[in-house]
Amino acid sequence: MNIVKFKEVVQQYKVVFFDAYGVLKKHDGMIEGVKEMLHFLKDEGIEFYIITNDASRSTELLAANYHKAGIDIIQADNLVSSAVMSMEFLKENIQPGSSVAYLGRETSEFFIKGADLIPVRIENVERKDYNTLGAVMLFDDGGYDFHPTINKTLNVIRGTDVPVVVANPDLVYPVSDGETAIAIGSIANMFEAVANRKFFRFGKPDVAVFKYAFDTVNAKRKVAKRDILMVGDTLATDILGGNNFGVDTALVLSGSTIEKQAEHMIADSGIIPTHICNSVVD
Ligand SMILES: [Mg+2]
Repeated sequence: MNIVKFKEVVQQYKVVFFDAYGVLKKHDGMIEGVKEMLHFLKDEGIEFYIITNDASRSTELLAANYHKAGIDIIQADNLVSSAVMSMEFLKENIQPGSSVAYLGRETSEFFIKGADLIPVRIENVERKDYNTLGAVMLFDDGGYDFHPTINKTLNVIRGTDVPVVVANPDLVYPVSDGETAIAIGSIANMFEAVANRKFFRFGKPDVAVFKYAFDTVNAKRKVAKRDILMVGDTLATDILGGNNFGVDTALVLSGSTIEKQAEHMIADSGIIPTHICNSVVD
């Protein structure tokens, strides 16, 4: 396995797409040296975007979290979230003014209101409301009393035939070194199996979020796919998505894929990154 220095690799590109967890930050905060690395990119004239499956809050609030951690260079405009793709879906498919039931945190209501729809916490949906719903949104694993709300959501999904949209398809997320928690993508899989329905999913590895980021870059200046590097720690989302979209990819070993497993995970999955780096601060 040929591990190369990120700093050397990145200078071959004009634009970098970063994953967030396991790349720029960990469960206990930002990875040391990320701030300096982002300033290095800026000085080199390399643009960067963060493509995240975090649908728990708006890109403004996500940017504010980076500012709290002392990284002011990351602005809302640098963030592309899977929830933005879900909002685009709602805009195109759901009658304006309809109610949309959601599972997650109130900070995700932003994406329903942004589509001119009315957010309703799924806990508050009653059987008589079923025929007023335009869609059901699954945003996050937190922000609700888990057991009763999961059962409530299942019954809403079974009792209606409106589109169910998964705004973050991730199955797990890291909570501490070596420990993971169930993410909303896993909960969605369970609902889908039990209700025997097919849901709409947005976020990596689906290419729509990469296309959205690509179009955003190209609205400002012309860049080709070969000018872009996607950097991520997860083969099945970041690297597969980048490869499918047709940009070069760099797997970093600072998150969900550790060095001693990387080689056989790449061989078993057939998902081959263009480059492998220890981390973005290496
Ligand atoms: Mg990650």
